[in-house]
This record gives sequence, structure tokens and C-alpha cells, in this order.
Amino acid sequence: MPLIARASIDQVQAAADMVEIVGQYTELRKAGANYSGRCPFHEERTPSFSVNPAEKLYYCFGCGAGGNLFGFVQAKENLDFAGAVEYLADRYGIELEYEESSARGDAERHRRERLRALLEQATAYYERVLHDAGAAAPAREYLKQRGLGDDVCRQFRLGFSLAGWDKLREAARAKKFSDQDLLDAGLVVPGKGGRPYDRFRGRIMFPLADDRGRTLGFGARTMGDEKPKYLNSPETPLYHKSEAVFGLHAAKAAAGREDRVYVVEGYTDVLALVQAGVHNVVASMGTALTEQQLKRLARVTRNLYLCFDADAAGLGAMSRALTLGRKMGLSLHVVRVPDGLDPADYVLSGAGGEGFRALAADAQTLLQFHVRLALATHDLDKPDGRARAFAQLKGVLSKAATPIERDEELRHVADRLQLSAESVRYLLAGSGRSAEGGDAAGEGRSQPPQGGGAAAAVGGAHELEVRFLAGCLAQPQKGRVVLAAVDESFFATAETRAALRVVKARLEREGAGNTLQTAAKAAEEDDDGEALAEVVVRAGRERFTATVVDELFLRLQEAHVSRLIARLKVTAKTDESGKQGAELIRLQAVRRTVREAIRTIPVDEEPDEG
Ligand SMILES: [Zn+2]
Repeated sequence: MPLIARASIDQVQAAADMVEIVGQYTELRKAGANYSGRCPFHEERTPSFSVNPAEKLYYCFGCGAGGNLFGFVQAKENLDFAGAVEYLADRYGIELEYEESSARGDAERHRRERLRALLEQATAYYERVLHDAGAAAPAREYLKQRGLGDDVCRQFRLGFSLAGWDKLREAARAKKFSDQDLLDAGLVVPGKGGRPYDRFRGRIMFPLADDRGRTLGFGARTMGDEKPKYLNSPETPLYHKSEAVFGLHAAKAAAGREDRVYVVEGYTDVLALVQAGVHNVVASMGTALTEQQLKRLARVTRNLYLCFDADAAGLGAMSRALTLGRKMGLSLHVVRVPDGLDPADYVLSGAGGEGFRALAADAQTLLQFHVRLALATHDLDKPDGRARAFAQLKGVLSKAATPIERDEELRHVADRLQLSAESVRYLLAGSGRSAEGGDAAGEGRSQPPQGGGAAAAVGGAHELEVRFLAGCLAQPQKGRVVLAAVDESFFATAETRAALRVVKARLEREGAGNTLQTAAKAAEEDDDGEALAEVVVRAGRERFTATVVDELFLRLQEAHVSRLIARLKVTAKTDESGKQGAELIRLQAVRRTVREAIRTIPVDEEPDEG
């Protein structure tokens, strides 16, 4: 990977307008030094999301999402760091420079750029052929028959490959691309006499794009009975089948907004749904969803609605995707289209986008899907069919996310299998046992205790520590004094300890007169972006006076001493020297002093600094 030059990154950081970037996803209003709005990372009615425009940092008090400019673009546009820099450079017209890199790295980058250029040329060529060539009339007719209008075909840059052996090859060579370029891009196949020929002939071309809409490869479909019906690009330096998701570039914004994405099987299903106003839809490549595909989707939304054919292949694929997705912590649902129709036929048959959304509202959960699948695959009219369904369901029910969900499905099962009360109890007991061990181990275990005293205590400590650091940033003079008196042991979590380090370093730099180093830069370099973002955003949101900082400092000391006391109380019991007992008494005296100081803090009316 080529390294983008530090100076270029700084240029992009300086040029980008954080409010404009975030404003693409949520409406922002000015609120003090910050802007606030509804969080683009979680569903909410009242705004708890803040942006600090000067530092170019964001933080959500609802879900805890936070970070810098580049982190925001990475998360919302589903890009890596370099990709986010390139995206912003594009947007703000900045020419990036790359670090002096190895000759091989440079060659590699040039190679990829050349392939991208060729794929763009090929996309434009196939598009022109589809819309203008007389020989493409049957393809235009085919798309029209399928109910797909010109606009949506142009939006997804559909094309057509002519039936000859070297139509694309000739067009590309006229643009000075070599046979090697064409081979590397997967557009031609090596011929026997050394003369390559077009891979795609007489097919409708669907460009498979990356998250920025750049073509990486093609999916190509016949209109007749030629085999194979679908032909895709081979693996190339740019195109990897296991990562390809058709339509993700176009679906991203709507999927983020609605916090869900529909996954269908066919390219034309995507087009038909988009044409019907359902924009958050993508197609898997073939039926099996891979982990890489799920990861790409998960960066846009964690709510996936699968809408596959109800045939055996479709059901099997959904079942595997559901299991895989669950392991990745995704929320998966199954949308069933009635009468064996595919989604395209369904919306075009008059149901429209509204009809599809209504189906989605009735989507099944993972458990419901598996229960119905188990019931559907056995002959429930025969005793041995019921017995086999019964055995399978015992395992299925053990995978319920909650007891409530399990009980609901259990009622459905009992009804269908005409079970006795005793059999129901057996199913329940079995599912309970296996949920505590066996294959359910590790799922749902890693979550923190809900509403527990310990978790609540950590939450309170986090809040106090972040406010204290925010106060130090807002009142730098005071901040430097009080920060000199604390160390990492005053902070309860790794996150706030990391934030302490960044805030300390920053106040020291500013104290030394060097204010050029921005917080965003520090955040990126120290990889403590999230912790720092929360601090900075708070500093701009709350009105900190020097007195408030004093009070927070005292409260931080109180919490710190209290933690030491709690620890000592445990160890002092077994300590025979009596030293710990004496230390305990000393600390309790310190705590009384601190508490007394907190009680006597004056209430100030006006900010007394800054
Ligand atoms: Zn949020």
C-alpha cells in the first residue's frame, strides 16, 4: 500500500468542512461551540450527537460513537484510512502526494490505476453500446420487458457486450490499452494462437463497483438459453468475488439513514426495488453470503433483511448467512415474498415499494425462520416426521436470543406438532440446558452485566473522568495545574487513561506555544480518537468555569480515594502487620477532608476565565 504523504493528510484535514461532511447524513444545528443533531450511527428522536467544527471531532452521547474527521468518513463511507483521505481529497480538490516508496510499491500503484482506468473505459463503452447500438436492440427490449426504465439502467451503468470476438478488445486498443492490461482486468481470455478474445459476448453487463462507485469487475447475464446464464469477472488484482456486493455504492446512504439493508439475489431485483423507491437494497453474488460480504454490509448497518428465493438453495443459503451473521453480532431477518415470486416480479406486479416494505415489516427473526424451516422440511402428518421435527427443534430453540422469544416460538411449535404439556416441558428443559453450555457458549456471554452495580459504577466514573478532562481542556490554565496532580491511577478505564494522556500532552504543547498540533492529529497518531472526541465535544458543550474544574478535580480525588479504601478493606483483613489498617484510617481521613471541601465549594454565577 502506498503511503499518503503526511503533508497531504494535513492539507486534507485543513480543507475539509466537518459540518458539511456530517451534514450529508444528519441535519445539524449550531449549539454553542458545537453543532448538534440526531446521531447518524443509531436510531434516535432527540439529538445527542455533537460535532466540534474547529477540532473536526464528533461524539454521540447516546451510543458513544466518536472520533475524528477521517474516522467519520471511514465509518460512514465504509473505507480504510487511506480511502477516507482519498475520498476527502477528491471532494475538496486536493492533489495527494505519496511517500517516497519502493519502486515495487510505485509500480503496483500505477498498475492498479491503469486497470481502474481501463475498467472505467470498458464500463462507458458497454453503456454506449447498450443505449446506441442497433445490435443491442434485443437487450433494450429485454430490459423494457422486465419493467426496468432507462433512468435506473443508467443509474447502475448497465451495458451490453456485442457478440463479436474482439469488439471490446479493439475499442480498448484504440485507447492505447495493451492485451496484458485487458488480461489483467479480466476482460479478455487468452486465445490459442496467443491472440486474446473478449470474455463477455452478447450479454447484458452489470458493473460491480467498490464503495466509491468505481468499477472493479462485471457480472454478465445472457438473455437467452446460453450457458452459463451468469458470467462474472475472474479474480483480478481489483476484483474479488468473495467481497463483491452489487449496488452497495448506491444503497449506502439510504441504508445508513434507515439503518437497514435488504439483500436480494438478483441484479434486476435491485434495479426493480430502487425504481420502486426502495433504495437500501443490494444483491449478493450468487446465493452464498461470505464473511467478507457481511463485513462490508456491517459497516453501513447491522440490520440485514435477507430476501432470497424460497427454493432449497435459497433456504440453505439464508440459513448459512443467518448463522454466520449472528456470530458477527448482526441482526438478521428474513423477508418472505409470497407465491414464489422474486422481489422484482413482486414490486412490478403492482405491489410497488410500499408492498415490499409491508412484507419487510412482517420479516421473520432468525429463530422464527429456523423453526419454520424445521417444520417445513418434515412431514408433520406422520408420527416419525413429527419425531424428527421435534428432535431438530430442540436444538433450534436452544439458540433463542431471549426466553421471551423462545416461549413465543414454543407456542407455535406446540400448536403445529400437537404436543402434550409434558413434551413442551421437555423441549423447554432441553433448550435451557444447552443454552448454558455446548454450542451456545460464547454467544451472549461477552456482554456486560445489565443494570449491575459494578457496571453502573464504571459508567458513573467514566462520566466524571471525561467531564474532568473536558473541563481541563476548556480551562487550560487551571487544567495544567490540576493535571499535574493526577496520574493514570485516578482513572478507572483504559479509555479515559488514554484520553488523559492525549489531553495532558496537548495542554503541554499549547503551554509551550505550539498550537499547530491539532487534536485531530493527535487523535489519529495516538489512536485514541474516540476517547478524545468525547472529551473535546463535551468541552464545547458544557460551560466549564475554573470553579467547576476545581469541583470535578475534588470529585475525581474522592472517587480515587474511595476505590483505594474499598481495595484496602479487602486486603487489610489478612494483613497482620497492621500497616494496611493504619493506611485505611489515613485514607478515610483524606476522604473526609475532600468531602468537606466539596461541600464548601462556592457557587459561581459567571464564568471567571476564557
Ligand atoms: Zn449515536
